[in-house]
Amino acid sequence: ASLLAAFGRVRFDRTAPDIRHAPRDGIAEVAFAGRSNAGKSSALNTLCGQRALARTSKTPGRTQALNFFELAPGYRLVDLPGYGYAKVPEAERRRWGREIERYLGARQELRGLVLVADIRRGLTTLDRQLLDWCAAGAIAVHVLLTKSDKLGRGQQSQALKSAQAALGRATTVQLFSATSRLGVDAARERIVELLLSPAQGA
Ligand code: GDP
Repeated sequence: ASLLAAFGRVRFDRTAPDIRHAPRDGIAEVAFAGRSNAGKSSALNTLCGQRALARTSKTPGRTQALNFFELAPGYRLVDLPGYGYAKVPEAERRRWGREIERYLGARQELRGLVLVADIRRGLTTLDRQLLDWCAAGAIAVHVLLTKSDKLGRGQQSQALKSAQAALGRATTVQLFSATSRLGVDAARERIVELLLSPAQGA
């Protein structure tokens, strides 16, 4: 219950220029990932009740930086670099892949991943790649189908059903909207659940 209330008091903690510089202090973290423009920053800001906690990069896809936020002592949220930006050169894209795969495979602090996907687009190739790496590393994933306000009720439940069908039992998925605040409470509850889950290999 106290961790749920902490979403109203999230503070910026630090930036790491890349995954190698992420703090290794054993503090449990849930990381947010998603295609550029999927609505990751908006989701983070809405979940934390702040307008500009997570900022969109001025040069989308061009930053490898990770931003860490303190939810409460001992618990962090991490904003991972967005991916899939069309103008990123192939070499840089491969670098992203290597980095993120290493992070998902070896990060002791990681308790779960929130994958943000635009409901109108569904899961992209890179989203699926990320999901495969999570499965390989036994990382729990919760998918937010963002911008749900852009669809009517019928289309929302259709999109939810097809995502569920594509994802398999271990991955949870829900409707979300930063604009209408649909699914905010459910997302917070799932994130707390992930943060309180035991570390992989513990
Ligand atoms: P990011 O690149 O994944 O961090 O995406 P942003 O959070 O910056 O959002 C990208 C664009 O989608 C912005 O123009 C947002 O205003 C818009 N957006 C984000 N979330 C929502 C949502 O829930 N509903 C609607 N209608 N627009 C959204």
